[in-house]
Amino acid sequence: MFRSHRIIHSILPVVAGLVLLVGTVPAQDFRDLHRTALVVDGHNDVLGRVMSGGDMESWGSVGHSDLPRFRAGGIDVQLFSIWVPSKRKGNEAWQYALDEIDSLKAIAARNASVMGIALRGGDIERLVADRKLASVIALEGGRCIDGRRDRIIELYRRGLRCFGLTWNFSSDWATCSQDERAGKVRGGLSKKGKSFVRLLDSLGVLIDVSHLGARSFADVIATTRSPIIASHSGCAALRDHHRNLTDTQLRAIAAGGGVAMMTYVPSFIFAGLDKKKQDRMRAYERQAAELRKNHPDRGAAYLKAYDNMLASARKERLCTIDDVVRHVLHAVNVAGAAHVGLGSDFDGIGLTPVGLHDVTDLPLLTRALRNSGLTDEQIRGILGGNFLRVWNTVVKHGSDG
Ligand SMILES: [Zn+2]
Repeated sequence: MFRSHRIIHSILPVVAGLVLLVGTVPAQDFRDLHRTALVVDGHNDVLGRVMSGGDMESWGSVGHSDLPRFRAGGIDVQLFSIWVPSKRKGNEAWQYALDEIDSLKAIAARNASVMGIALRGGDIERLVADRKLASVIALEGGRCIDGRRDRIIELYRRGLRCFGLTWNFSSDWATCSQDERAGKVRGGLSKKGKSFVRLLDSLGVLIDVSHLGARSFADVIATTRSPIIASHSGCAALRDHHRNLTDTQLRAIAAGGGVAMMTYVPSFIFAGLDKKKQDRMRAYERQAAELRKNHPDRGAAYLKAYDNMLASARKERLCTIDDVVRHVLHAVNVAGAAHVGLGSDFDGIGLTPVGLHDVTDLPLLTRALRNSGLTDEQIRGILGGNFLRVWNTVVKHGSDG
């Protein structure tokens, strides 16, 4: 009796796992769906806090993320942005980028039981199976390489696996969306820029087109042979902002097999964000923090209070989690569900949509996506399955970094 009971117990999780894998029975609850899905975030700036002396290893009240909160939010894979402040120039910018990469590696080494750096195809699955946060070193803005090919190779050796060609500054080889929109530059990749794209392809580094100008974007599409990502952008058809992707760009990303990862940046996903609305959204941030404190279990009472808060923010016509869902749905309609993902920009933004205040709110985004009518299979792809496909296509070889 005892023995057969044990057998049933050991078989049950396997059967449950198989049922989930074949997708014949929907997950019972949004939390089940979130927990069993691979959850990837395309862009996080918490390393900026680390570089100015802050902490990301213990649960804190500052910012939007840290290691314990990544876990609580069910994040399995995080692309960590290596971003250099604009006042750092020349060699100082280069050194800053290297220091930032070393900081992330030191944090990973100190916390080896809960995180690891993903360097090769297959690494994400291996790290996630070990219940570790798979961490991808991702450069935001190629200005720090100072136009030098050898520096791309050096970054690769140090573990860089995603390269955002520009931030809000153009270089002599790639132009950013801000400068192209303002008509400050002719726009496009130079011959050198195209050769860099080919180099990234051959190394097996993801190319990130968020922040890129339209002409540079088109040159990337014409040059690369790999699927690309936009790590943190919205849809220009819903909000005409230079950082967002047009429908043509969404289709081009999909045609190449890539993923457009929808961001939570309020000014990109919501029009008319005046001072009054921003003040009101800050008040909701405080209210949400109180709710989380009062309901650490995040159970039924929390959800009820959360829904009431959201209903009230909707009445005030503020930027909410609904706007993130709106951009996801538009991208799904234009590019197809297999080519959409999520890229928060947490810890890179001063203001968050109401209802999506830090990484621990991620299960609630899964809930909102489910309520929008997307299927569980589509949501699994958007949460991370689509990114994993691109990663395993592009990052084939890898080194130890
Ligand atoms: Zn950015």
